[in-house]
Amino acid sequence: FRGVAKEPPMNIVHIAVEMAPIAKVGGLGDVVTSLSRAVQDLNHHVDIILPKYDCLNFSNVKEFQYNRSFSWGGTEIKVWFGKVEGVSVYFLEPQNRFFDVGCIYGCKNDAERFGFFCHAALEFLLQTGFHPDIIHCHDWSSAPVAWLFKDHYMHYGLSKARVVFTIHNLEFGTHFIGKAVAYSDKSTTVSNTYAKEVSGNPAIASHLYKFHGIINGIDQDIWDPYNDKFIPISYTSENVVEGKQAAKEALQQRLGLKTADLPVVGIITRLTRQKGIHLIKHAIRRTLERNGQVVLLGSAPDPRIQNDFVNLANQLHSSHADRARLCLTYDEPLSHLIYAGADFILVPSIFEPCGLTQLIAMRYGSIPVVRKTGGLYDTVFDVDHDKERADAEGVEPNGFSFDGADAAGVDYALNRAISAWYDGRDWFNSLCKTLMEQYWSWNKPALDYMELYHAARKE
Ligand code: ADP
Repeated sequence: FRGVAKEPPMNIVHIAVEMAPIAKVGGLGDVVTSLSRAVQDLNHHVDIILPKYDCLNFSNVKEFQYNRSFSWGGTEIKVWFGKVEGVSVYFLEPQNRFFDVGCIYGCKNDAERFGFFCHAALEFLLQTGFHPDIIHCHDWSSAPVAWLFKDHYMHYGLSKARVVFTIHNLEFGTHFIGKAVAYSDKSTTVSNTYAKEVSGNPAIASHLYKFHGIINGIDQDIWDPYNDKFIPISYTSENVVEGKQAAKEALQQRLGLKTADLPVVGIITRLTRQKGIHLIKHAIRRTLERNGQVVLLGSAPDPRIQNDFVNLANQLHSSHADRARLCLTYDEPLSHLIYAGADFILVPSIFEPCGLTQLIAMRYGSIPVVRKTGGLYDTVFDVDHDKERADAEGVEPNGFSFDGADAAGVDYALNRAISAWYDGRDWFNSLCKTLMEQYWSWNKPALDYMELYHAARKE
């Protein structure tokens, strides 16, 4: 890596449809922002091109200003510029109003909207004389960049750029994804284990020579219990017990739960099949049986699943009013308080490309209880079973995990976790401290991406 650090700055442009905290649906939004910041910190130049949604959270855009306009695709496209978390962002606002629909995803013509955006973003680069070294696109939604670039824009004057394509979730739009993998110079996904798990997928199998797993990190400034306006007391590993105690009380009060010294299990998730809905439901029951409290923050894109959870919430809020709260919405500030106030964060995903929740949990001293899959396997090392594997990675064991995808699996991990809370509080507290001292930052992953960008440039 030393050689890499000495080379001149690269120009990297991300073309993406999500960006935290202004247009975030899931981990993709976090990664675009925090990877950009980490690469910028290595003295490279990073720009992001994003649709200008009417539902953007503008309060987090600084220096917002009109930049220019250009015509393409039978419409005028206004370009705005702003800084988000210190990263330069160009917002494209086509006058056909493709992004004035009150949401990021969820329209019947999403593929058309985002296809249009990809084309417009490349056109913007061309018309403004940008000469990026790397164009980095993400998931099905900006996958068309890969082939539009190779079929057209490469020949129009953007010739020096290389295309890197990252798969954050193979489940969505496999057809688009396979085509982008084929056309890109390098492809990545967000953990080594997920890379192995999907290596037999036809979208990827014949491109393994240019396919790499690079684990995500979390932005240590954005997720920082020492500097977090949504929690009552600043804390580090030194005063984790006091900090988490205050956060737990604040959480209990805010949600109307009994303010008592009980084990609190937190769940923060999109409610989709991927996230192990049946395991989540089972874990809620088991935690309540063991006299713990449960806080779930989640929303379901599928109205049937959302309804199902509304019913479950109604039941639990009457049967266990002081110990269960299901908040069926998206709420970033509340998520911070849960990460800080919970003892455990449960992530029982059926598959999980990387998963950020377990990393954020650890940063806040909450113990992850996870299913052994994808990035969860790569970042959570069971205190009873993974000592050797943790040693090999140079980390201490840091959580509880399970294999199967049934109730017995979750029980195995969750029961051990809750028992540790009841029976060995000193040990439990020292585990919280250990977690907080593990850095799942972007430092190493950002260097891995730089190495990949350099390798792409050399080809
Ligand atoms: P995915 O991208 O599959 O949704 P990740 O674990 O990679 O899963 O990222 C999820 C991100 O979204 C985390 O930052 C998590 O805190 C956040 N998140 C998920 N659901 C909610 C919610 N209902 N409210 C607030 N934040 C949420």
